[in-house]
Amino acid sequence: LASRDFHPADTVINIKGVEIGGEQLVVMGGPCAVETPEQIDEIARLVKAAGGQVLRGGAFKPRTGPYSFQGVGVEGLIMMAEAGKKHGLLTITEVMTPEYVDVCAQYADILQVGTRNMQNFDLLRKLGTIQTPVLLKRGFSSTYDEFLNAAEYILAGGNPNVMLCERGIRTFETYTRNTLDLSAIPVLKQLSHLPVISDPSHGTGRRELVVPMTKASVAAGADGLIIEMHTDPDNSMTGDGVQSLFPDQFAHLLADLEKLAPLL
Ligand code: PEP
Ligand code: MN
Repeated sequence: LASRDFHPADTVINIKGVEIGGEQLVVMGGPCAVETPEQIDEIARLVKAAGGQVLRGGAFKPRTGPYSFQGVGVEGLIMMAEAGKKHGLLTITEVMTPEYVDVCAQYADILQVGTRNMQNFDLLRKLGTIQTPVLLKRGFSSTYDEFLNAAEYILAGGNPNVMLCERGIRTFETYTRNTLDLSAIPVLKQLSHLPVISDPSHGTGRRELVVPMTKASVAAGADGLIIEMHTDPDNSMTGDGVQSLFPDQFAHLLADLEKLAPLL
């Protein structure tokens, strides 16, 4: 079902009038984690002002270590839904277990499956039983075939609203947190009809690389981007402040993308 052979035309996912996979480049911006109502409200205002369409923010965080901040949970879903509504943005948040799919879908417009859960088949099966759009991140050591098979689980269950997200893979290079596999963008567009989103934040792990890799992703054919932005990255509650853009960088980047997109 994920294959272009089966479905030659591009899939366009329409969420409350925002089309993902169509003509428009979609930008999802926001913090790694929802922290407080004030934080998410202010960031939502800035995402909207910059021209973004979707507010990102994790309420449930898949942290590598069990003692790290794990997210504020359902409270965070509520804070983010309010901020999205107030500022006219769609919202995307990560869901980690099948048990939380329904509550996350109640509050968010798009559900994110993180890289660590790409092959959490129970989660994928559960996401196949609803119609809420899913942004499926590529596992950091997964092949394209494994990635598309993971998408297949959701599609096979009856949810056609899946987007694929390249977020960097593990290579021998340690200077960057991951290696953003730019080739994945045109490869996935060729193999599949599903929208392809790039995550240059986790893909590089370094703020100064997010701007060029965002532009490179657009040049490679990405349908959208998911980018971390924070008003106070040095004090963010996850370690992802180092890869979060400052609001003015985010705004400049989106202005540049508006100039770049029509050229491609
Ligand atoms: C995130 O988007 O904050 C995140 C945890 O992403 P990934 O699953 O790609 O590491
Ligand atoms: Mn993050």
